[in-house]
Amino acid sequence: MRIMLVEDEREMANALRSALAKHDMVVDHVTTMGDAEAAAGSFQYDAILLDRQLPDGDGLALLPRLRRRGLGVPVIVLTAKGDLADRVSGLDTGADDYLAKPFALEELLARLRAVLRRPAGMAAEMLRLGKLTFDFGNRQAFVAGELVPLRRRELLVLEALARRKGRTVLRTVLEDAVYSFDDEIQSNALDTHVSRLRKKLSEAGAEVEIHPIRGVGYLMKRAS
Ligand code: CA
Repeated sequence: MRIMLVEDEREMANALRSALAKHDMVVDHVTTMGDAEAAAGSFQYDAILLDRQLPDGDGLALLPRLRRRGLGVPVIVLTAKGDLADRVSGLDTGADDYLAKPFALEELLARLRAVLRRPAGMAAEMLRLGKLTFDFGNRQAFVAGELVPLRRRELLVLEALARRKGRTVLRTVLEDAVYSFDDEIQSNALDTHVSRLRKKLSEAGAEVEIHPIRGVGYLMKRAS
């Protein structure tokens, strides 16, 4: 799951970044609407966390700019302006949710889960393939009811593959799902995460296969 954080206050941004990273999310941090619009055009985000008071204006102005470009990504507006009128204007502008600072991280996570469950976010709440069940809401993998313990990047790879089940997923798409633009990517790192994931799924008896498609990417399907 890849999140864009649009926030100009350094302390707030750093705290959110590390908290979200601990919850297995990839976070790209930008400080202006201009940079946010550019990043949204280049990468696929699962959600955007948007501050309102930004150096280049009221963050709400970003929403129509994104929607005009056909970007339906869920947006949660984060702001110190928490009164009712501001809340209503935020939602009217096309925000999916609104959270007044200061907020508890648990609440932000719950709201992220909620917007991601809506139809405009992820298409399916559960993937079932072979004996594997992937729960998109809680971001957990199960085989025959048993949780498969996955490390952060393994989970991110599986989540990206699960969302595109039965289709070849480009390396670049997987890398975008696993690394933020501040991460350094070593050339074989993705393959390492895939092979660890494959091993764990196989040991759990998931009956799914992750095939490398040479020079293109990976395909996850039911074991034949
Ligand atoms: Ca601000």
